Amino acid sequence: MSRIVMKFGGTSVANVERIRNVAAHVKREVDAGHEVAVVVSAMSGATNQLVAWTTEASPLHDAREYDAIVSSGEQVTSGLLAIALQAIGVPARSFQGWQIPLRTDESHGAARIASIEGETLISRMTDGQVPVIAGFQGLAPNNRIATLGRGGSDTSAVAIASAVKADRCDIYTDVDGVYTTDPRIVPQARRLERIAFEEMLEMASLGAKVLQVRSVEMAMVHKVRVFVRSSFDAHDAPQVGPGGLPPGTLICDEDEIVEHQVVTGIAYSKDEAQISLRRVQDRPGVAAGVFGPLAEASINVDMIVQNVSEDGKTTDITFTLPTSDQARAIQILNAKKAEIGFEALNTEADACKVSVIGIGMRSHAGVAAQAFQALANRGVNIRAITTSEIKISVLIDTAYAELAVRTLHSVYGLDKA
Ligand code: ADP
Ligand code: ASP
Ligand code: MG
Repeated sequence: MSRIVMKFGGTSVANVERIRNVAAHVKREVDAGHEVAVVVSAMSGATNQLVAWTTEASPLHDAREYDAIVSSGEQVTSGLLAIALQAIGVPARSFQGWQIPLRTDESHGAARIASIEGETLISRMTDGQVPVIAGFQGLAPNNRIATLGRGGSDTSAVAIASAVKADRCDIYTDVDGVYTTDPRIVPQARRLERIAFEEMLEMASLGAKVLQVRSVEMAMVHKVRVFVRSSFDAHDAPQVGPGGLPPGTLICDEDEIVEHQVVTGIAYSKDEAQISLRRVQDRPGVAAGVFGPLAEASINVDMIVQNVSEDGKTTDITFTLPTSDQARAIQILNAKKAEIGFEALNTEADACKVSVIGIGMRSHAGVAAQAFQALANRGVNIRAITTSEIKISVLIDTAYAELAVRTLHSVYGLDKA
């Protein structure tokens, strides 16, 4: 007997028929003698609709009320799944974040989990009941509902798995695992049997939205074994495949992976904006003057390039940031124009970051050079580059995004045979 947390994403609970299918998956695990807790997302599209309504009501709205509204999608699916489970003879009860309670900090809209009371859930499970938990939401210190940022049900699931000391956290979605790149963009993408926490963290933070970044961070810190799999596989399909697990991807410690490829995957993100400050005074403290105020405003700057201006006396500073923060950043920098000492601010929203990720890079030279050459051969111009031990990112025009992803995927031998 194991204790399992099963999480179902938006497409898996998109309507009542799919919720019945989810109930059948849950029943299979219960019938196999496991203790099960379930975490659900809202029906696909529901959260987008709720967000759109809040913006329509007022573009600048109170974040506490935003959370009261957008958390409601999960309330619906948790109740529906509890009913669907009861209907097939599985004792089940829905739980909202505040009923557990799953406590968060006060950052409404992107709250972090502070603590989870596991006792109630554990005692329900040992009594043979399935708690069906509304993902994405918790209770803030001000006694109000807080949400965990888009895609946050993954994080709810991993955190709950850790709190109830589950043996595994199964993330059921609309693809049967983590692929070498987004299978919707590159049909040649291959499913990975295993991927190391660190690589998954890079993949997720560089654009592979199959898991929310924080869920991977949490799994890594609390050593939760996460298994990504499809809810569209038949619920009565064999549960043990060739590798001892059904089709899916296990996210695990690096040393559980026997053979490392040099490159594990390619990720991309189209939500990048680029800002260039032209003719900045070249003196100590300038970078701090630019990036300090942005950090204070919680704006995450990513790639930074500094080069000599056309006049040869001053410098140009170019950096990238999420498109959603672009307007705010421009406002902040323009307000500090005299203090920082730059002449002009140029900006482009049309940028895409493509990244090559792999733990194997640590011990292999020439991986970056290979990427640059392959992109050059395809006529793709690189605007900026950043690297770390296990990843290389390039910033390119969005128009070339898919070409670049496909090119790199094939250059590193990731295409399926
Ligand atoms: P859910 O609603 O179940 O949370 P998401 O839409 O958040 O599902 O995540 C699943 C999607 O992630 C897939 O449909 C796929 O298009 C996308 N995706 C992006 N990169 C990858 C990748 N490397 N492997 C698998 N899926 C990926
Ligand atoms: N329903 C939320 C969203 O769409 C949370 C999630 O699906 O994980 O972002
Ligand atoms: Mg998701």
